[in-house]
Amino acid sequence: MRIAVYPGSFDPVTNGHLNVIERAARLFDRVIVCVMVNAEKKPLFSLEEREGFLRLVCAHLPNVEIDSYGGLLAEYAKAHHCCTIIKGLRAGSDFEKEFQMAMINRRLNPDLESLFLTAEHQYMYLSSSAVKELGFYGADVSGLLPPQIVEQFKQRIRNISDDKENEK
Ligand code: ADP
Repeated sequence: MRIAVYPGSFDPVTNGHLNVIERAARLFDRVIVCVMVNAEKKPLFSLEEREGFLRLVCAHLPNVEIDSYGGLLAEYAKAHHCCTIIKGLRAGSDFEKEFQMAMINRRLNPDLESLFLTAEHQYMYLSSSAVKELGFYGADVSGLLPPQIVEQFKQRIRNISDDKENEK
């Protein structure tokens, strides 16, 4: 059984992420999408919300499961018998960082391979942070986020904008 892990913040999951998940699901027997806890980042959605969104938008993929983890990815991969880490590679920005991460992960666990799936051209410049920025400026985010989560995303943006307004 070949198991891959796809790690990320997924704050929130975008159509770019979903495209990588669907492609990975065709390549492996099982894919674990793992929401990584990053104490330095202040996410828009809680860990539970991000996992819930992923479960919702991956419901059509029977060999995909959702999990979360706050430790080292290489250790998670070992404990869950994953042979491969999946990463999405976008235009420019991801390369240096990902190359370094792959080197570190291989050092921590030499049996673990990193596999990079190049972003689909329409999602090449799409990131969760770009979607959030667009959202805060009131731009249309449909087409960038899975339709099942668009309303909850808009609602969260509205709540935060209202809170900021009340603080003034
Ligand atoms: P971001 O906040 O930048 O969207 P995440 O940490 O959630 O990033 O990303 C998890 C993984 O998904 C990373 O490997 C990242 O390179 C990849 N990824 C993010 N957006 C895309 C996209 N639009 N197309 C392909 N891969 C992507």
